[in-house]
Amino acid sequence: MDDADRDVLAGTLAELTWHEVETAARSGAVLLWAFGVIEQHGPHLPTGTDVYLPMARLHAVRALLAERGVQALIVPPYYWGVNVVSGAFPASYGVRPELMREVMVDLLAGMARDGFGHVFCFSGHGDALHNRTVHDGVKAACERTAADASFVTEPALARRIGLDPDDPYLTLYGPDEGPPEGPVDVHAGRWETSLMMHTHPRLVREEVRALLEPSGLGPDELAVWRRGHEHARRVTPDGYLGDPAAASAGEGHRTQTAAAEQAADAIARRVRRSAQAHPQTGRRNHG
Ligand SMILES: [Zn+2]
Repeated sequence: MDDADRDVLAGTLAELTWHEVETAARSGAVLLWAFGVIEQHGPHLPTGTDVYLPMARLHAVRALLAERGVQALIVPPYYWGVNVVSGAFPASYGVRPELMREVMVDLLAGMARDGFGHVFCFSGHGDALHNRTVHDGVKAACERTAADASFVTEPALARRIGLDPDDPYLTLYGPDEGPPEGPVDVHAGRWETSLMMHTHPRLVREEVRALLEPSGLGPDELAVWRRGHEHARRVTPDGYLGDPAAASAGEGHRTQTAAAEQAADAIARRVRRSAQAHPQTGRRNHG
């Protein structure tokens, strides 16, 4: 890994000139945008984990979209999200959902004004209210402005936050699975730590990680944890829920590759459908 992997503006439209952005919009490029948060991630992962991980995902998705004939630009990440679960820990900052929604509306309106036909919004953060807010922001922007956007997520998360799978503001990807068997692993545990070991190994406190005990909690404790703030801090005093010591870069690589492929396929499908529905605009992609 070089320093570019840790620069969240690297490879985004923040590195382009306005001429280059305008040219991309005119040639039918779509936008990819990550919504993370700054939040505690146990004693072994950095507070920017929910920003670094979706950015790595978007870079992989962009490369796969290019193979599918869809040009995409990456928007600099949004990282002042909504924090309920980790809200009682240090270094875990949040904004009110209505503020995030309104910032999204203004920025999505600007992207629509530039002529971008579709903005695909990803979340890097599992908090239910954060994800409802990403969906709210997308919906409000599409209803109140010329924006065309959707929330790209997995069926299980859409269900958890109470959305209909046929919701027009959703681009769903991946298999529709229930929660995996065994102990719960949802925050800075095996799953998320494996991804960071794959994408940003130098930011993982390896000597700490290897010694962490599995939290060994089940669905009942998860329900308490999800109530957030002091409840979460009591259930997971070290800030992780899962088994970070069992993580590996290889597992992170497999998870990342599969998810990026599924997301790129779902986006390419939506772009194709949109091109068939609006062939006259000439602005849509022709994948
Ligand atoms: Zn996270």
